[in-house]
This record gives sequence, C-alpha cells and structure tokens, in this order.
Amino acid sequence: MYDYLVVGSGLYGAVFAHEAMQRGKKVLVVDKRPHIGGNLYTKTVEGIPVHVYGAHIFHTNDEEVWKYINQFAKFNRFTNSPMANYRGELYSLPFNMHTFHRMWGVITPEAAAEVLEKQRKEIKGEPRNLEEQAISLVGRDIYEKLIKGYTEKQWGRDCKDLPAFIIRRLPVRLTFDNNYFDALYQGIPVGGYTKLIAGLLEGIEVRLNTDYLDRKAELDSMAKKIVYTGPIDAYFGYRLGALEYRCVRFETELLDMPNFQGNAVVNYTDSETPWTRIIEHKWFQFGRDENGRELPGTIISREYSQEWRPGEEPYYPVNDERNNTLYAAYRKLASAEDRVLFGGRLGEYKYYDMDVTIASALQMCRREFLEGTGRVL
Ligand code: FAD
Ligand code: UDP
Repeated sequence: MYDYLVVGSGLYGAVFAHEAMQRGKKVLVVDKRPHIGGNLYTKTVEGIPVHVYGAHIFHTNDEEVWKYINQFAKFNRFTNSPMANYRGELYSLPFNMHTFHRMWGVITPEAAAEVLEKQRKEIKGEPRNLEEQAISLVGRDIYEKLIKGYTEKQWGRDCKDLPAFIIRRLPVRLTFDNNYFDALYQGIPVGGYTKLIAGLLEGIEVRLNTDYLDRKAELDSMAKKIVYTGPIDAYFGYRLGALEYRCVRFETELLDMPNFQGNAVVNYTDSETPWTRIIEHKWFQFGRDENGRELPGTIISREYSQEWRPGEEPYYPVNDERNNTLYAAYRKLASAEDRVLFGGRLGEYKYYDMDVTIASALQMCRREFLEGTGRVL
C-alpha cells in the first residue's frame, strides 16, 4: 500500500512526491504522458535542450523557492529579453525606454512619460477588461502594435472580453532595462528541465503512459491518499460542464545554420502572422551545449495558440468570470473528496508560474505533513 499516489509528474507532483518521500512516505507517481516533467519537459537534440511544451524561464522573488530548486539543478544566468516583431518592425520587450524610443522617437524618460501620460488618459476610471487595462498602462499606440494582435492570437478572444490581470504581468519601465521579469532570481537549468524533475523524483517509483482516470478504481485502491494534478473538470467527468483552456501547438525545425533570429524568443505581435512567437532554443543556453561547446546548428519552434478540445493537452486555464465560477463549483465537489488533494495549474485551474507552483506544492506539504501535530503554520 502506498501512502500517496501522485497523479502527474509535472513540477507540482514532483515537488510533492519528493517532500513526501523525505518524510518517509511510500509514493507512487503516475503520468499519462510517456515522459516526466509535464509542461517543463525538455528533450536534448543535437546538444540543444528543446523546450517541448513551450519556452520556460524560471524567475522568482521568493528566496525560499530559489534555494529549494537549486538543490536539484544548476541554473544558468539566462535573462529573458524577448523581441517583438510587428510587420517587420522590431521592438524591445517588456515595455521600456528602448520600446518608447522606437515607437515615438523619445530619448528621455521624461519625454516618454509625457507621451504615456497623454495616451493613458483615454481610459477613465477602473479598467474593465484587457484592452482598457493595456491602454491605461502603455497607451493606444503600443496597445495596437504590440498587444492587441498578440493577445487575440494567444487567447482567441477579443481584448475587450479578456480579464485585465493578464496584461498586468508585464512590467512597464522608464529605464533601458530589457529584462522581461521583475525578479531577483532568474535562470534555466543547465542541460534542461527534465534533469531538474529527475532530481526531484530520484528514488521514487514512477509509472509513465498511465492515465489515472482510465484506471481510477484500481489505482485508488493502491494508496491511502491521492494528489491529483490533472484538470479538475476531467476528474469529475466534466459533470458540471467543461472548463476552457488554451492550447499551444509547436512546429519544430532543425536548421542547418548557426543563428536564425539572434534571440531565444521573438513575439509576432501583428494579427496576420499565424504563430504567436518563434523560440530559438539554443539561446536559452547561450548557443552552447551543457559542456560549454558552441553548437553549429539551431532548432526553432513556431508556437501556435488554439482553443482546447477534449483529448488535447490543456495548457493555459482561461480565468475569465464564467470559468472561475465554474471552477468554484468544481472546487466544492473537490472538497467532498476527502482522500484526494487537488493541486497545480490544472488541479487548481490557476495561471501559476513555476515558482508559484513550487510554493503552492510546499504549502500543501506543510498542511498535509504537519496535520495533527498541533503546530500552527
Ligand atoms: P503540468 O506541468 O501540466 O503537469 C501536470 C501533469 O499531470 C502532466 O504531466 C500531465 O500529463 C499529468 N496528468 C494530467 N492528467 C492526468 C491523468 N489523468 N493521469 C495521469 N497523469 C495526468 N512558468 C514560468 O515560471 N516561467 C515560464 O517561462 C513559463 N512558461 C510557460 C509557457 C507555456 C507555454 C506554458 C503552458 C506554461 C508556462 N509556465 C511558465 C508555467 C509552468 O508550465 C507551470 O507553472 C508548471 O508546468 C505547472 O506544473 P504542474 O505540475 O501544475 O502542471
Ligand atoms: N503580451 C502581449 N504582447 C507581447 C507579450 C505579451 O500583448 O508581446 C500579453 C498577452 O496578453 C499575454 C500577456 O501579455 O497573454 C502575458 O504575457 P506573458 O509573456 O507573461 O505570457 P506567458 O505566455 O508567459 O504566460
């Protein structure tokens, strides 16, 4: 009998499984995919760790999480500075002085602030959706060229129908700082994320190609408790209706050239280009393999965003009002499942970054393993 059956070998499941094992618990991890790591999975091809489910850059302000994750992998000093390509014009991201200079010809922060101030005035009162939020952050020019097309491709919805919080993730700076994230710590595991997950799962039994929902009764009988990190609506057989997700699809090519686009990430922010961005994987490791050897070839992935349909891999929860309400109803059902803990991006239907996923898994461990000891958290 296992103490815990962990459904999903993604970051959440791997952290939980590791912590449970550290406390002497007997753990079985199952995943329906043929590999560990969930969306973090990287596969090394010609020396290049390919981010198979999309570019992943670890970034956090949480020192505890940073220390925690560094136990399992060596991180490089990669700093994300994506470029935006709008109909052949290149802009620097996130929105900073380079962007404002290119957009308006302004040289000083004062001049940039003046234009921003003027354009922001278009929105009066509290922004009610993503479009209003974007304009009230950076004005209409930037909204039209760098946000509208990209966002509508990525989410498949009009910016007026999307929640404002999505765009608040992006910094707006009056400095020449291209660092996409406002984070104290940032980097990518040298050799890829699969190594990191393998480190977390070391010594733990993992069964791949195993869909928990297909064999629920049998697997449930093997463990005292279950940690479920798959989609919460799938767990309940979609009985209240399906939550919406966005899905991404990648077209990946190995190219016989050393440098395709000169950057790890280029976003295509117009509405005509069908892909949202192109990832050139070698630049996540500065064009070198994990031993520091320069790589002659390159691998690129064009990323396309589409609506999720049953049977496909869900990627992004769509946290608009309708879905959040439906999720709350599923949450109620979940609280009645006393042997099952729901966690992770799909189990909690939250737009979690990796650091928040780890913090959330550690929080769940604290609750779970201190239970009954009388210690106050
Ligand atoms: P997942 O990685 O989705 O793992 C869930 C696992 O459960 C999967 O392996 C799945 O196969 C398995 N599973 C599901 N159902 C079943 C079942 N019935 N039976 C068995 N197994 C099942 N975060 C950052 O911090 N920085 C980034 O740059 C970043 N970029 C991202 C880019 C993209 C395109 C996406 C989609 C996400 C990105 N994220 C990023 C977020 C990051 O991917 C998540 O924080 C992280 O993957 C969450 O881990 P998880 O374990 O909750 O979920
Ligand atoms: N975004 C945009 N233009 C860009 C990059 C991002 O409009 O060039 C918007 C888009 O709505 C996206 C949001 O900002 O959903 C958050 O971007 P981020 O890169 O954080 O999204 P991720 O894909 O990492 O979840």
